[in-house]
Amino acid sequence: MPPRSTTRETAGEIGRFAAWLNIILCSLNGHELFPSFEPNRICLRCVSCQYETHGWTLNTVQRRQVPRAAVLVQHEALAAD
Ligand SMILES: [Zn+2]
Repeated sequence: MPPRSTTRETAGEIGRFAAWLNIILCSLNGHELFPSFEPNRICLRCVSCQYETHGWTLNTVQRRQVPRAAVLVQHEALAAD
């Protein structure tokens, strides 16, 4: 005789079934996508089934560092003209 499932296992099975049902319903009706903002990423996430698009990764643009001495040389060259 197989062991009876505990309440926690039953709740997990119901949760998995509900998630699977949401995926099926989204497949038929389409996802309800809303923007999701994370610290370095933006994507669209479905509120019903946890589907999310690939999204966009935000990279901070690093400014080109110009050495201070080079800037001073350029100013001196302009002043000499
Ligand atoms: Zn969905």
